Amino acid sequence: MANETIKRDVVILGSGPAGLTAAIYTARANLKPLLIDAPADAEKQTAPGGQLMITTDVENYPGFGEGIQGPELMHEFRKQAQRFGTEFMEAWIREVDLSERPFQLYTDSVTISTETLIIATGASAKWLGIPGEAKVPDGFGGNGVSACATCDGPLPAFRKKVLVVVGGGDTAMEEATFLTRYAAKVYVVHRRDKLRASKIMQDKAFQNEKIEFIWNTTLEEILGTPEDGVTGVRLRNLQTGEESVFDCAGVFVAIGHKPNTDLFKGQLDMDDVGYLKTSGHSTATNIPGVFACGDVQDSVYRQAVTAAGTGCMSAIDAERYLDHLPVAMPSGDEVTIEGEHITPDHKAIITPDGHMIPNTDERESV
Ligand code: NDP
Repeated sequence: MANETIKRDVVILGSGPAGLTAAIYTARANLKPLLIDAPADAEKQTAPGGQLMITTDVENYPGFGEGIQGPELMHEFRKQAQRFGTEFMEAWIREVDLSERPFQLYTDSVTISTETLIIATGASAKWLGIPGEAKVPDGFGGNGVSACATCDGPLPAFRKKVLVVVGGGDTAMEEATFLTRYAAKVYVVHRRDKLRASKIMQDKAFQNEKIEFIWNTTLEEILGTPEDGVTGVRLRNLQTGEESVFDCAGVFVAIGHKPNTDLFKGQLDMDDVGYLKTSGHSTATNIPGVFACGDVQDSVYRQAVTAAGTGCMSAIDAERYLDHLPVAMPSGDEVTIEGEHITPDHKAIITPDGHMIPNTDERESV
């Protein structure tokens, strides 16, 4: 039986700050956006609302003098997007075809056909891939192993216990510092003898009496029992090769994030890590009509406010594109929905059939 096909001008994938801001702008521009949320799934680390749904205090989002809770902030974003008529759909997109417009997105029950696509699928925490790390019942994931201190740190299983944080970046410092609110002691295990974290975050961690560092060391295995959860880790000193068992009640993996771009492999240009490449001058990807915003294209800033900012940019880019106006591409060209390319020096227009015509106003040449 053929699937139902839904046709739209703007489809947004993802409902974090980037996706919802793109929805607010495109909805206010009367483009009737359809926003597709991945269903909540602990294994795949998807949660409608994105990473802020697993955050507590947000103190650096402008406009909230006293700070705001992450889930509350995202609730407000969503309410605002709904107010202007954004349509929401919860679905897994299993495949996309971006080879020609309208682009096709396939779920198990429906095909979505869209003139423009705004990708705001965010990023997910990376894992070590060691024995004991997988989700219960294969490992202790959810039973002593976590990638989110703010979500799981306050749980009774971790209170007044010895905990291990893995990583040497800002996330690891932030997680370790946060965990000292509850834990007896937090050990940061790092594979080098220098941290990657910013100086201010390092200093904060070094000054915290509850935090200690285990340098030049990796985790080889997470140990435990189904009844007690995590009971320890097997460590390996990279300088001596020596292995040892270290007792702890919890392991927080904080080794960075991976952009959620598997769906677009082979179709959209990405960097080595998988972040989508966008034009410096717009949120355009290498395919005209496909835009990317938020953490899925930003490995540098990765803040809620920058995600919201690029979400706004994507909406304006999609709007311009649908209005037959040129949008800047990563190549330096500008492209219109008709397939015209304006050269980076603005001197010529290349038509879809390959003809080059001067980009001059006839009135000038009279
Ligand atoms: P980073 O990539 O900065 O750091 C990852 C850390 O994990 C590194 O120390 C790395 O080691 C280590 N690591 C990576 N893979 C492994 C592995 N397989 N085994 C053991 N260790 C591993 O990621 P973060 O998530 O910490 O930060 C990402 C970005 O987000 C940064 O720009 C950061 O500044 C920002 N951020 C800012 C915050 C804030 O300002 N409040 C909070 C959190 C993040 P090595 O150093 O040896 O490569």
